Amino acid sequence: MKSLILAYIDLNMKEDLLNDPVFSMAAGQFDRVADFLKLDDRVRERCKWPKRIITVSLPVTMDDGRTEVFFGYRVQHHLSRGPVKGGLRFHPKVKLGEVAALAMWMNWKCALMGLPYGGGKGGIACNPLEMSMGEQERLTRRFAQEIAPFIGPEIDVMAPDVGTTAQHMAWILDTYSTREGRFVPEIVTGKPVVLQGSEGRTQATGHGVAFLATRALNKLGILVEGATAIVQGFGNVGSHTVETMDSYGMKIRGVSDISGAVWNEQGLDVAALKAHLAKTGGVAGFGGGEMIDPDEMLLQECDVLVPAAFERVITGEIAAKLRCKILAEAANGPTTQSADAIIEERDDIFLIPDILCNAGGVTVSYFEWVQNLQRFSWTKAEVLAKLETKLNEAFENLLFFCAEHKCSHRLGALATGIDTVAKVKKTRGLFP
Ligand code: NAD
Repeated sequence: MKSLILAYIDLNMKEDLLNDPVFSMAAGQFDRVADFLKLDDRVRERCKWPKRIITVSLPVTMDDGRTEVFFGYRVQHHLSRGPVKGGLRFHPKVKLGEVAALAMWMNWKCALMGLPYGGGKGGIACNPLEMSMGEQERLTRRFAQEIAPFIGPEIDVMAPDVGTTAQHMAWILDTYSTREGRFVPEIVTGKPVVLQGSEGRTQATGHGVAFLATRALNKLGILVEGATAIVQGFGNVGSHTVETMDSYGMKIRGVSDISGAVWNEQGLDVAALKAHLAKTGGVAGFGGGEMIDPDEMLLQECDVLVPAAFERVITGEIAAKLRCKILAEAANGPTTQSADAIIEERDDIFLIPDILCNAGGVTVSYFEWVQNLQRFSWTKAEVLAKLETKLNEAFENLLFFCAEHKCSHRLGALATGIDTVAKVKKTRGLFP
């Protein structure tokens, strides 16, 4: 099998997708909201299943001369409102179902934010931590080459996600542009600024998370300066969330990454922690705090808890014991459905749902794409100001919707996104 495209979904595919715990969670959320919206069955089915699932095998020459074959996926959930937009993930546990779930969430996120995109996501099952940059470059370029027939600035635009960076986007841009015989910066976002990436894109997701946390603190009448936070994950999103919160005068009590978790009741020295990370590659062993069990860290008292690593980390068991006032979901899908039910029932935690909380990334990606299409660029200050305006508008609209419909923030956010997509599908009609 060289490359396989499924332009339709059969029953086995539905079953296979639903057997994946992450897809089953996304589909469960969708069903709940579809019931709430009383979606017409025909539109409901069209909204739920991905439009295209692309699987490619990727032979790569490794540094020791071996040829290793990796599998890569790209899922385009729907193209009814514009090109699909979404990250590319490099992680050993990448599975098709997970990628399809992340593509579905991207849909609702883009619609919630009023961006003219459908949702997409990609992933390659590999361990970038054990691969040289040369191996990663060959893998990324091979992936770009294999999926080139199915992407394009008006079809599918990728961005970084877990395990990938601006450099990976640069390789995709170069491979695609070489194929086209012209420079096509609008094929990816989150690329280096020297290749017409947008100012402010690298920190956009974390900046948005921290900004929305301050909006929630305001609503709860808690002073931002001195408010406490705990952050799980110290990669692109986690580190920029921490840095921005630190710049607002918030106290970061705990930070974890794959190496472990560090804790300082009085607040960590963020600049020193970043310097330690740059030197050692992880937060473990940082002298400015004590090591703490990463799971225990999530249960400590704080104003804002930020899961910024992976999906399904806040389980029902953890949710019952949380001692935060605000749960700011920087990661995609960090809270299981059983945990969601507990948080709703508890009614003492202000949830900023993932599809709003981490929407800073795709919003500035949209700004980057628009700048590229116009061959024009904005300053970082302009980008971040426009981002805050858009996030604030979506935040206030969500609170208004939830108050009006007496529903949770999760339900309100998903309902707003899903309703927009459903209306577009209904209005366009079904071809043929
Ligand atoms: P990243 O690869 O840059 O960072 C991931 C971080 O999680 C790393 O610090 C890693 O050490 C840490 N981690 C891994 N396993 C962990 C564990 N068991 N406990 C604690 N930490 C652990 O990825 P990222 O781009 O920062 O993405 C993080 C999350 O944010 C993902 O859910 C991603 O889908 C989501 N997201 C990212 C963006 C973006 O712009 N990059 C946008 C929206 C959403």
